[in-house]
Amino acid sequence: MADKDITKLEATSDEEIYDCGLRPKTLQEYVGQHHAKKNLQVFLDAAKKRKESIEHILLYGPPGLGKTTLANVIANETGSGIRTTSGPAIERPGDLAAILTNLKDGDILFIDEIHRLNRLVEEVLYPAMEDYALDLVVGKGPSARTLRLDLPKFALVGATTRMSLMSAPMRDRFGLILPLEFYEDDEISSIIARSAKILNVAIDKKALPILSSRSRKTPRIANRILRRVRDYAEVHGGGRISTDIALGALEDLDVDALGLDRTDRKILLALAQKFSGGPVGINTLAAATAEEPETIEEVYEPFLLQIGFLERTPRGRKITVSALRHLGIKNVENQPKLL
Ligand code: ADP
Repeated sequence: MADKDITKLEATSDEEIYDCGLRPKTLQEYVGQHHAKKNLQVFLDAAKKRKESIEHILLYGPPGLGKTTLANVIANETGSGIRTTSGPAIERPGDLAAILTNLKDGDILFIDEIHRLNRLVEEVLYPAMEDYALDLVVGKGPSARTLRLDLPKFALVGATTRMSLMSAPMRDRFGLILPLEFYEDDEISSIIARSAKILNVAIDKKALPILSSRSRKTPRIANRILRRVRDYAEVHGGGRISTDIALGALEDLDVDALGLDRTDRKILLALAQKFSGGPVGINTLAAATAEEPETIEEVYEPFLLQIGFLERTPRGRKITVSALRHLGIKNVENQPKLL
């Protein structure tokens, strides 16, 4: 079994198909995120009472925590149509104009990775968000003039993994900003139990905490692990996921007791052994581990920070004592330098 995409940033294409059936459709089915759900419910109820369409919403948090799912839940709860796209897919202002003019009143436009919209496109989006209008430049040179086109009253739901890369004018145009947090292990257990039921996989109660404690507090990874363990169970255990099957599969996947995979360990070991524990800049760390700086920042680092294995200091990343303990390293100073 390959381990390399356990913490992959985006859902793979076959995973998207598999995910479709697993995505909760209502706020009630949507597990955890109590803070975000509570605020969202008030926001949706208030708009409903006023018989107005909802304001624009920004969701942010690490990949796989349920931003796309929540956008679809919002559409479902408000009975709206939803059009889904992503920042990098909208290359030119014309692409955005085509999307906006095809929306209907009350529709939701979901833009994933909204921090990756380019400046020119962003500028078309501002009047669209604020005045439901599109400013088009017609003609060239001295005879060029702007034409204002009215747009349907849509609601934008944006999702980002990198709040710090969002421009201030963009951020200011959202009526509600909801941070999504890492899930508790019991919440991940109920997500796995729910997915297993939908997928018709038999799973022992005792196997649930084994899988959830290794899912990096992230639903996408929990579902991914479940899928791999289901394959393993089909080959080795007659289809049923017992504790032994769960442990065997996770060992094959090279996921350790805390859910760290080979890349997490590579990053932590580089910090400990090549840089005496840090601090070290993200680009240097990326070069030493042959990973992209963005991948470290977006995928690996949030969880390592969350479990207290990494520290961010003004001078760079530092490994913590608990990480060293987990890796079985007593003293960074005594480690042989690999550089
Ligand atoms: P993101 O857009 O933040 O990267 P997704 O919304 O694509 O994450 O979620 C990844 C998968 O995790 C989805 O397919 C969905 O099945 C599952 N999931 C996410 N959030 C929840 C939740 N709160 N309850 C149950 N399943 C969830």
